[in-house]
Amino acid sequence: MKVTAVEAIPFRIPLTEKKVWARGVLDAAEHVLVRVRTDDGLTGIAEAPPRPTIYGESLRSIVAAVEDWFGPAVLGLDPFETEKVLDRFERWVGNPTARAALEMALADIKGQAAGVPVYKMLGGWTDQVPVCVRVPTGDADAVVGSCASFRDRYGITTFKIKVGMKPNEDVATLRAVREMMGPSARLCPDANQGYDPQTAVRVLKAIEELDITLLEEPCRIDNDRGRQQVARSTTIPLMGDESCTNLAEVRRQLALGAVSVISIKIARTGFAISQCIAHLCAAEGVVNLCGTQADSSIGVVCGAHFAASCRNVTLASELTGFLDMVDDLLVETPTIEKGMIRLTDRPGLGIRIDEAKLKRYRL
Ligand code: MG
Repeated sequence: MKVTAVEAIPFRIPLTEKKVWARGVLDAAEHVLVRVRTDDGLTGIAEAPPRPTIYGESLRSIVAAVEDWFGPAVLGLDPFETEKVLDRFERWVGNPTARAALEMALADIKGQAAGVPVYKMLGGWTDQVPVCVRVPTGDADAVVGSCASFRDRYGITTFKIKVGMKPNEDVATLRAVREMMGPSARLCPDANQGYDPQTAVRVLKAIEELDITLLEEPCRIDNDRGRQQVARSTTIPLMGDESCTNLAEVRRQLALGAVSVISIKIARTGFAISQCIAHLCAAEGVVNLCGTQADSSIGVVCGAHFAASCRNVTLASELTGFLDMVDDLLVETPTIEKGMIRLTDRPGLGIRIDEAKLKRYRL
């Protein structure tokens, strides 16, 4: 089997409402569908979400990177030759989501060719994954209301709450959510580096008794001493996200002792590098969850396969991005029931593009 064609198709799906976080605003998913075809008629898909403020990629840079570099590099290769794919990708630096999407689309093909779902091919730990939802920003009442509605509608009990902009309000919001949602709720605030180290220490102290599952990226990722100081000040697990975007950074953060949970985002490290990260973390006694790059349902399904494949992904994963979009590109949209996404036994990723929808949303 040989790769015969690689496409990069930009698309735009509006969000149901604007998303605000400490580093920006989003009102639509403008992502790139990466589609790979082989000489025996198989098609693999994945998506690349440009996040210019995090990875420096744009819609156009992803299309160019796939069309000019990563796509031609895999033409003629057997999709099973993953090590060769990774080796060829090393000719270029940067462009994390472009290369990750292509590698995952190839994994989709490998699964289809072997007749097994990707999560089994990667490790087969489970077939269902607990889900964490990112709650829209707002005042304490609004956040509590959103948490309750996600619980009632989807059975989700793990809530990612964006903080990092107004420390006093952040503490009040977390307190309100704990009070109103009861002891079974799991609270995962994400500060997106919004606090200075002193403020982070103060906020962590104020929320110490709220049984917080983890706090994500309290302060700037380039402030090593500050991060260590914050980590030493609290019993709340700190999660690395922006500080852990590739294997080398993960190693660095583990050595610093600044994080005790690491968010794996398949959008930026694909399946192969994500496995390296998970194995490294397992060896260091650090657990993982699958984070979101606000992926549409394609990326969510990829994330669910990875989370289900891997024993070290022990915390609820952020697999709800598609709920924030008015539509998606798939024939069958994934569903969340009782707080879980369940994987099917269909080979590969088990998803198909709805060509009519693609026509409608492509740019
Ligand atoms: Mg984050």
